[in-house]
Amino acid sequence: MKPTQYSEKVKQHFKDPKNVGEIENPDGEGMVGNPLCGDMMKMTIKVSKDGKLEDIKFKTYGCGSAIATSSMITEMAKGMSLDEALKITRKDVADELEGLPPIKMHCSNLAADALHAAIQDYLARKERGDVGPRAKAEGAFDYDVVVIGGGPAGLTAAIQTASRGLSVAVFEGKSWGGVLSTIYPNKRILNFPGLPDNTLGRDFVTNLLKQAHDLGVDMKNEFVNEISPDRMVKTAMGEYRARAVIVATGTLPLACGIPGESDLTKGDKGVYYYVTYPEKFMGKRVLIYGNGEQALESALALENIADKLTFAYKEKDLVGIDQDIKTVKRSDRIKLLSKTELVKIEGADTVEKVVLHDLDEDEDFDLVVDMVVLAVGMTPSTELYGKLGIEADDRGFIKVDKDQRTNLEGVYAVGDVTTDLQLLVVAVSQGATAAHRVSEYVQKQKGF
Ligand SMILES: Cc1cc2nc3c(=O)[nH]c(=O)nc-3n(C[C@H](O)[C@H](O)[C@H](O)COP(=O)(O)OP(=O)(O)OC[C@H]3O[C@@H](n4cnc5c(N)ncnc54)[C@H](O)[C@@H]3O)c2cc1C
Repeated sequence: MKPTQYSEKVKQHFKDPKNVGEIENPDGEGMVGNPLCGDMMKMTIKVSKDGKLEDIKFKTYGCGSAIATSSMITEMAKGMSLDEALKITRKDVADELEGLPPIKMHCSNLAADALHAAIQDYLARKERGDVGPRAKAEGAFDYDVVVIGGGPAGLTAAIQTASRGLSVAVFEGKSWGGVLSTIYPNKRILNFPGLPDNTLGRDFVTNLLKQAHDLGVDMKNEFVNEISPDRMVKTAMGEYRARAVIVATGTLPLACGIPGESDLTKGDKGVYYYVTYPEKFMGKRVLIYGNGEQALESALALENIADKLTFAYKEKDLVGIDQDIKTVKRSDRIKLLSKTELVKIEGADTVEKVVLHDLDEDEDFDLVVDMVVLAVGMTPSTELYGKLGIEADDRGFIKVDKDQRTNLEGVYAVGDVTTDLQLLVVAVSQGATAAHRVSEYVQKQKGF
């Protein structure tokens, strides 16, 4: 099979997927994800009295193959005993679909893994004697706590509140794991206390996701469009009321606002804000513009991939994690241009060249490049909380007190959305602080 060719069966299941949705009050549920490609899959099951899979439904946030494999496995497994269903392998799913393109094989892994996780969840519940719905917040509330943002800060807050027995949902609008899984999934985390050497960003967030799932956190792939003052969270798929809300929406890459940027950003025309897929840059002439960890990571990701790599920044010196600066400076594949400003990006359909300004000589010069990575920093997204009336400082960071409370009753904020001290250890400790205070707040509301 060619790398990109889909079989007729895959196309059929993609166009007309079976068993899409979520079973209300399922007997078991399984959620798995691949932070690298951003795919997520949730399976819910109902088990009959004689131990057969009576109903299976899936929801996925993923590509065509993810949809086709989920649809296929639900058809294959319905009516099977749990033992039989547990024996369905990833290869069985791909074979039933008459093959998958090699680069899409990991999608069949997700479908089989999600079904197995749902069955394991059912078996674990049965052993605990709690088959049936997960604990729900009583009264008019859907959850005790809703967390908005599935990055390290939000996932930590969810893990810590769920482990205190509260019913919790996390909403993630794009890719689970936050910037660590979307921007540089292969980045090694060097500065988190106690973490083994060479832990990759994607492994770190995969572990957080597993912990949250194992604690029964409801993981929702839905972008939150609005929060109302009575803590009603609104998405395109529904409205959910919580006793407390924790905002953990992180940051977005900052635009430079230079001529040529906006025209060449969309649709793979050569301007990017991060290097999620380094292979795109293979054999290209690339300019990285900016300073700090985001720019250093881009340079390191492309060091041995780009044909020519130029790294320009306005400042005299590089800033960021010491070890990364040393590696970049030592590299003979990265040309450094300090005290250099990017003035404009030019190209008819795709990037053809950039105009740079030498700040020492006070003169412009051209550089022929095929691709530009703009890594000038991150900015908190103000869209969501602006409407609600959460107070923010003049740079857009949400104002919080030492307990991570915002100015609004029952609304807390954690992680990069609150501070320019953007470190994992800060994000997770803020998540833990908020979880502790939110738990006290919710217990008080319930009259304990
Ligand atoms: C290039 C780079 C390298 C880094 N390297 C390191 C390092 O080596 N060590 C270290 O300690 N730190 C590092 N950091 C910083 C660290 O990654 C952040 O501090 C951490 O990810 C912050 O976590 P967070 O959960 O606050 O935000 P994020 O990771 O940004 O997650 C926020 C999540 O919220 C979601 N979201 C936003 N709005 C909505 C909405 N309306 N509805 C639903 N979901 C929404 C987003 O999609 C995102 O997934 C690095 C950061 C970058 C950019």
